[in-house]
Amino acid sequence: MNAIPSVKLIDGKATSARVLAEVREEVLALREHGIQPGLAVVLVGSDPASQVYVRNKVLRAEEVGIRSLEHKLPADTGESALLQLIAELNDDPAVNGILVQLPLPGHIDENRVLQAIDPLKDVDGFHSENVGGLSQGRDVLTPCTPAGCMRLLHDTCGDLSGKHAVVIGRSNIVGKPMAALLLKAHCTVTVVHSRSANLRELCRQADIVVAAVGKPRLVDASWLKPGAVVIDVGINRIDEDGRSKLVGDVDFDSALAQAAAITPVPGGVGPMTIAYLMKNTLAAARLQRAGATAE
Ligand code: NDP
Repeated sequence: MNAIPSVKLIDGKATSARVLAEVREEVLALREHGIQPGLAVVLVGSDPASQVYVRNKVLRAEEVGIRSLEHKLPADTGESALLQLIAELNDDPAVNGILVQLPLPGHIDENRVLQAIDPLKDVDGFHSENVGGLSQGRDVLTPCTPAGCMRLLHDTCGDLSGKHAVVIGRSNIVGKPMAALLLKAHCTVTVVHSRSANLRELCRQADIVVAAVGKPRLVDASWLKPGAVVIDVGINRIDEDGRSKLVGDVDFDSALAQAAAITPVPGGVGPMTIAYLMKNTLAAARLQRAGATAE
């Protein structure tokens, strides 16, 4: 039995289904005007995990009525050939969103490729123009995982203004954009990382803890103040009791005793990431349409 019976499970599966339903409705409305948003997904090589991610993205796109265009390139594709493809996708009016599945093979400069994507089609929100826009608090295409986390937080807590949020992790994909979004939502934000001192004490001051570390069950009840809301971004595969399983960066069972609400792994942040990719593709289609009308 849980020590605190009021602990609330933050159900990312259910919320992502709602987000996808919202996107589908808006896509159908656009299609009535003869506009069908299109998402190009580019995969270089045959990494099995990346293949699964790409397949899921394509399936989700089809479910919500977004046209998906898959580009599978061999692992030995040169950087210039990839940049050429990006240039073609940038120019293609049927493509509203471009996603390059990471990681890319070592001989390709990831940053050069991401910077080549038209910022208005950058549905991952990794282009420096969008990163800069986010840090200025502008409405730009935002990385999908942190955007999904914000939806979970708003649905759970309502107004976040004045809350102290501690983000564990400072990656460009999760930690930094998460911090920027929390700041935009008027939180007091502390970002901690592998060199931070007094990590546990800092976390224990937080109303909101976002763990994006990649260390299985790093955060347990002793890191949390009673009533904290916990968002666990981590996805770690471990072997336990003779079987392989997925766990987060938070020790879920232990954290339940302290937290007011917590995301499970799996079924928390994971499904939100893909839902926000669809939301971003729709947003990108709208941005490009607004740009075309203004010209
Ligand atoms: P990165 O490896 O890029 O970043 C990890 C961050 O955690 C770094 O800033 C690192 O600090 C920090 N860190 C590492 N060890 C510690 C420690 N012991 N104490 C405090 N901080 C530490 O990972 P990502 O941000 O890309 O991903 C984080 C996790 O989220 C992973 O498990 C990943 O699989 C998962 N993920 C899940 C997604 C989803 O859809 N649910 C999407 C993206 C990621 P430093 O900078 O000093 O090295």
